[in-house]
Amino acid sequence: MEKYDVLIIGSGPAGLFAAMELERRGLKRIGIIDRETYPAGGLLNDGKLNFHRRIGIDTAELGLDDTRADALIGEVKEILTAVPGCRQVTFPGTDMILAWERIAWERNVDFIAPEQWHWGTDNGRRVVDHLRNRLKSTAFLLGREVHSIQIGPDSIILECGREKDSCPLECSVLLAAPGRKGAYWFRSEARRIDIDTAFGPIDVGIRVELNRKFFDTLTDTVYDPKFLIRTNRHRDRVRTFCTNPGGRVRFEHYGEFKIMNGDALAGQKTSNTNFALLNTIRLTEPFSDTTMFGQMIAKQFHLLGDGAPIVQRVGDFREGKRSRKETFLSERHHFHVCEPSCTAVPGDITLGMPARIVDNLWESLKTLDKIVPGILHPSTLLYAPEIKFFDTNYPTDEQLETNIGHIFVAGDGAGKSRGIVGAAVTGILAARGMLAKHF
Ligand SMILES: Cc1cc2nc3c(=O)[nH]c(=O)nc-3n(C[C@H](O)[C@H](O)[C@H](O)COP(=O)(O)OP(=O)(O)OC[C@H]3O[C@@H](n4cnc5c(N)ncnc54)[C@H](O)[C@@H]3O)c2cc1C
Repeated sequence: MEKYDVLIIGSGPAGLFAAMELERRGLKRIGIIDRETYPAGGLLNDGKLNFHRRIGIDTAELGLDDTRADALIGEVKEILTAVPGCRQVTFPGTDMILAWERIAWERNVDFIAPEQWHWGTDNGRRVVDHLRNRLKSTAFLLGREVHSIQIGPDSIILECGREKDSCPLECSVLLAAPGRKGAYWFRSEARRIDIDTAFGPIDVGIRVELNRKFFDTLTDTVYDPKFLIRTNRHRDRVRTFCTNPGGRVRFEHYGEFKIMNGDALAGQKTSNTNFALLNTIRLTEPFSDTTMFGQMIAKQFHLLGDGAPIVQRVGDFREGKRSRKETFLSERHHFHVCEPSCTAVPGDITLGMPARIVDNLWESLKTLDKIVPGILHPSTLLYAPEIKFFDTNYPTDEQLETNIGHIFVAGDGAGKSRGIVGAAVTGILAARGMLAKHF
């Protein structure tokens, strides 16, 4: 059986940055396992980078004070901004940004405009090749899916591959960084081997797409503007996330359903801008399973859209009408002003979403329209659902070791990060934890 000091499940930013840190500190027998045949995880997606301690990680949960958080983000920044095709798109602290902050503040909205860089989905492979080439001794064990984790007396054994050509791998320390798509597989394994898990909040909302001319005044200054809103009616938290000027709306595939997302290319722009508008939901008692809650919403849309997400024009939404194929591009309704970049099914988003979430999203859109007039043009498209499945928490120590010694977690799939930079930060933290505790 092949034996490693550290095995890492997942070749996304969390896994790659962990391996880089382990190699840099002289560890030799490291393996990265991925079920895909190309080691990338979410690095092939868009590559918008937010360098700010309030974005992508929870510093309190990770036990990081501002100085340590900034230092870690700085280390990630040095590596990521050196990748080919990555360019700075937001320069914080300008007069224009201060003006936007002021306009948002007048509406009781918090506005964050951190330093941002972008490489674009079309540069993704160059970026991944560059990062992979930084790793000299790490073994890439690709095209292998980990099915189960067994804890032996002195080591951890991973069963990989299909049943008949299953190949066990052995390690002293394991890092699980399986991303959002591997999150539920890992959670069931974690529960089977008694790793503690808990339900965290879940983000549920919509992807908004509009003619970019309404948003360019803002995104020309801040590529990915972050608005944080506390709604008046329910006092819930809503935020904008992942803005893509000149970008495309895309489906994210989850087997039983599809959810919305968005990206942008560096070399080719559309006439639209899209962003996510997300409502953070926490459940307490009698039902706290935010995973099932999110999945039920996604499945409801899957049912209503006959296998596809739903899209509704703001003009129809305002009148309480579903959108229809026949009028979807109607000039009379001014719908032609925004041509969709994604083919979802015209319908009624309020049928699939709880009323409280719809209230929160609509109130937030009205607030945003006062800050950036034009968002609520009748042609604006509301795609649903967009859901961020980072809802399982793993109580760990600050080195990211779980209650089962020698098993560490990092990245989005373990609820430790949200985004590329945050995932990379947690990968480094876990690597340092392993070195401090076990080697
Ligand atoms: C369309 C889209 C656009 C995005 N745009 C951005 C953006 O602009 N900026 C940003 O910061 N973030 C963006 N994200 C989110 C970003 O991709 C993630 O936050 C990030 O990749 C998380 O990193 P990770 O290392 O935790 O997991 P991932 O990058 O998801 O990597 C996990 C890896 O684990 C592997 N894996 C899972 N389970 C197993 C198993 N059982 N066996 C073997 N391998 C397994 C998967 O194949 C995957 O390669 C976007 C996401 C999408 C879908």
